[in-house]
Order: sequence, then structure tokens, then C-alpha cells
Amino acid sequence: MALFYPNPRLESVLDRHLEAMAAAEGLSPDGVAAAVAAGTMTVLANPGHGGVRPTLIGQPAAIKVNANIGTSPLLNDAAMEGEKLRICETAGADTVMDLSTAGDLDAIRRGMLAATFLPLGTVPVYAVANRYIAAEADPAGMTEDEILAEIEKQAAQGVDFMTVHCGVTARAVDLSREEERVTGIVSRGGAILARWMRRNGRENPFYARFDDILDIARAHNVVLSLGDGLRPGAGADAGDAAQWEEVIELGRLARRARARGVQVMIEGPGHVPLNLVAAHIQCIKRLTAQAPLYVLGPLTTDCAPGYDHIGAAIGGALAGTFGADFLCYVTPAEHLTLPCADDVRQGIMASRIAAQAAETARGRERAVSRNRDMSRARKALDWEAMAELAIDPALVRERRRQFGHQQECAMCGKFCAVRMQDGL
Ligand code: SF4
Repeated sequence: MALFYPNPRLESVLDRHLEAMAAAEGLSPDGVAAAVAAGTMTVLANPGHGGVRPTLIGQPAAIKVNANIGTSPLLNDAAMEGEKLRICETAGADTVMDLSTAGDLDAIRRGMLAATFLPLGTVPVYAVANRYIAAEADPAGMTEDEILAEIEKQAAQGVDFMTVHCGVTARAVDLSREEERVTGIVSRGGAILARWMRRNGRENPFYARFDDILDIARAHNVVLSLGDGLRPGAGADAGDAAQWEEVIELGRLARRARARGVQVMIEGPGHVPLNLVAAHIQCIKRLTAQAPLYVLGPLTTDCAPGYDHIGAAIGGALAGTFGADFLCYVTPAEHLTLPCADDVRQGIMASRIAAQAAETARGRERAVSRNRDMSRARKALDWEAMAELAIDPALVRERRRQFGHQQECAMCGKFCAVRMQDGL
């Protein structure tokens, strides 16, 4: 398949997988190829990740769901992370990100790449900063060359997409301080880089060395996820000058990447009140030339710790309706602790519900017909069909099993409205 992208790695991926990817999405191969060439759709598939399932992100492919897992300095349990990775696959996540910040990060990452067919994403600055923090040194001491070496290493290992906080420029950080944000900088990568710039009196190394990062990404077909290091961490901070300064810069960087044959996505907010979600999504898409948009929530209320997966699913459904392409899940553990295995499962289900709701609102045929088929199965009291069509079939079967599989359910029993219509 000849594309105008000067990217032989991407072209070889398309040569091998285009037909299957398009068929899985119900799209035409030519349409997918055109969207990839235009940069409005990306293919997550590093040829170095053996067995990866190539995955399309961007219009008009279906909205995808990502799950973040990984260790932390206070909860570093390899067995639990392995269980979380298995749940990502069985619960229906489309991709997974390893956000580990404790333990042997190379071994963890290589283990995940070997164990999963899901495209794997990382945040390389964590690994560089971790070497300093583990040695009780200031991460502001890391060098540009160390950062590039880490990106190169992870690309060679097979990482499919990487968050790089290239838009956290000195000007944007200054704006975030002038604004007197309620929560300042809440992105770990953004905070590390703001500290680095302040201590070294220099521009963000990811921004300064962007062309070198593009060369690495192009050589391995790594998709760059241009991170939102200045995303709002409070509804009150949504839409401030620092956020938009970063978005505008990410749009410029996305255009530079496309010109070099590198695939990019844009990361989005964050905490955004419900009434502002549509405007945020539409403006970000506009400012980034319709690049695939990967949203972190957005969380529509700041007041629901323990239930943040619900607040994020509400925001994700609205964001997806107005153009977001990729939903990063939020779990019930958000703002409280590292997610456990059940938190991961609940977060994935919540985001998948948001994606299905958004796809339905967009009028996508598969989502609309799935809803219609579910409704018909309900009318027919066909419980197995309902389970098959459900976001979580195992849960449906388990709840039915608890009540002995009568034809009607325990909600109404003999008052079942469906059965009341028998013979009418
Ligand atoms: S018993 Fe009530 S809730 Fe259950 S299937 Fe019948 S009408 Fe629906």
C-alpha cells in the first residue's frame, strides 16, 4: 500500500494488517489507509512487539479504551500486576499502559510485552526519573541524552505508544503559575519536567529534542502520544491559559510529526465540568488538525473519590459523542490508592459503557444495532442473548445464576410486565 508518508515501517504494518484491521472495524481498507495517511487515524503496532494486535485509533474507527496498570513505590507487587494485565485482556480493554514507578522497570515492561497481545504504552520519563528518585537524587539531574536513550531502548523493546510531554514549554509552565491554579500541575510527567526546567534554567528537553524523538518513533513505528502535562486537575482550572497554550503547541508538534512520517495522538483533559466538555473536545480537535484524541476521563466532578470511574464515564461518554477517539479509563481507586485487580475491571467496564453510549450517540451502526438487539432479547426474555450482548456477559450470567434462572427475573416475579403480555 503506497502512502505519502515516508515511513517504511508503517507501510509494512499496513501491508500486512490493513485488510484485517479494516474488516474488524467494518470500514473499507482504502478509507482506513486514507485516514492513516492524513493523520486522523493511527495504527498502534510496533513490529518489535511480537504478537501485538494492531489497533486503530481515530475517526471513523470505533472508540477504544485504555487501562493503566503498573507498580508504585508503596505497592510493588508483580503478581498483582500480572493479574491486572490478564483482567485488561478479559474485560475488553483495547490497550494497556505500563505506568510502573518501582521495581525493575525493564523487566516489568519486557514481561508485559511478552505476555500481552494488547498494544502497550509507556511514559519513558518515569523510567529516567526513577533512577534518580530510587537513588534519593533529584530527577532534575537527568540529561537530555539519558531521556533519548530511554525512548530508544523502549522503542526497540517493542513499546507501541509512548506519552511524551513535549508541550510543557517554559512559557506554558509560567502561565500555569500566573493563573494561580487550584491544583497546579497534576501530571507526574508534567511536574517532573517543570521541576527540570526551573532547576536547569532550560527549555523542556522533550520539546528541545523533538526532532530526535521523531527519528526514533519513525524507525520503530512508535505512536507518540503528545502528553497533556498541564491538564486541569480541578474543574475550576479547566480551560485556563496554560492548558490552551499547551494544546496549541501540541497542534504545532503534531503537524511536524506528520511531515516526518510519525504517527501521533493528542492527550486531553483531565477534570472538566460537564457543561464545558463538548467545547473542550471540539476545540482540541480543531487546534490539532483532527488528530486522534486520547482523553483522561474527563472527570466531570471533583467530589466522588471511590466512584471516580463513574464521574469519568459520564465525561467520557460526552467526550466521545463530540469527537474523542480513545478513552483512558479511571478506576474507583483514583485519587485514593493504586488500583487493585477489581478496580481495573470496574474501570474498564465503566469506560466501555461510555464508549458504547458515545458510539450510539454518533449513530454508529454497530452500536445502534447492538442496543436494538439487546432490547429485542429483553422483550423475548432471552437471557442468554442478553448475556452475549452485554458489556459484561459474565456478570449477567452470575446474577441470573443467583436466582435460579426462572424465565422472569426477581425484580417483578409474577408481576413481570413482559409475561403479562403473553397471549395478548
Ligand atoms: S420480571 Fe420485571 S424486570 Fe424482570 S424481565 Fe420481567 S418485567 Fe423485566
